[in-house]
Amino acid sequence: MGAKTTGQSELKFKRIVLKLSGEVLRGRGTEPIDDTTLEAMCTQVKEIHDLGVQVCIVIGGGNIFRGLHGAKRGIDRTTGDYMGMLATVINGLALMDRLEKMGVSTRVQSAIPMNQIAEPFILRRAIRHLEKKRVVIFVAGTGNPYFSTDTTAALRASEMHADIIMKATKVDGIYDKDPKKHADAVKYDSLTFIDALKQRLNVMDSTAFSLCMDNNVPILVFDLNDEHAIRKAVRGEKVGTLVSN
Ligand code: UDP
Repeated sequence: MGAKTTGQSELKFKRIVLKLSGEVLRGRGTEPIDDTTLEAMCTQVKEIHDLGVQVCIVIGGGNIFRGLHGAKRGIDRTTGDYMGMLATVINGLALMDRLEKMGVSTRVQSAIPMNQIAEPFILRRAIRHLEKKRVVIFVAGTGNPYFSTDTTAALRASEMHADIIMKATKVDGIYDKDPKKHADAVKYDSLTFIDALKQRLNVMDSTAFSLCMDNNVPILVFDLNDEHAIRKAVRGEKVGTLVSN
């Protein structure tokens, strides 16, 4: 290990799947990809990459297209979902480009083959990239319509034996009720999967949530606008809300 990774034994999470939604990429801007937000996201990724954390990113596409949204406008759901999956490829390439410019080596793997643009998803190769200190960006979701990129994150985290999924959102954790509507909403530091289910807390869609629960993959929900949130989390500091068994 290089000098930069000497503190690796202090890391609570050594292999993570970072789930970034497309909406987070939009930031406060009006463009689908906000430059300042992209820079801030990649800076956080670089920070933990420099600490020696193995980082996989699953990127969403909601800032550009969602299958369900298309269906409301008369686009066949399956077609719309493929459009949504292609949107994740656009976002993934933006991440790749910015990370590489920051000196972070990356590989993009797509669940839908598109050889000129990305490698196909190959589990063993993805693991090898991590071992070679490359950030792996998974695009095109699971490659199947009717799924989400949260489900992709749950699937990839299970396959890659990741320690945790870190789900970046615009709020700083999970509350007992919507904090935007209720001033007395209380934030949880940690929760069990069962409690989250019982209280019908919307951590992820139900397919993604059950995959995590069944495969014992903890989920950390945190606010990406907190500048060093990911670094704090991998060092075991209290950030966001942790959902685990
Ligand atoms: N999608 C899909 N299968 C997948 C992942 C994504 O069909 O395995 C489509 C789906 O239409 C979804 C869109 O891609 O709405 C964008 O993904 P998502 O909504 O999860 O993005 P996010 O909300 O994270 O930005």
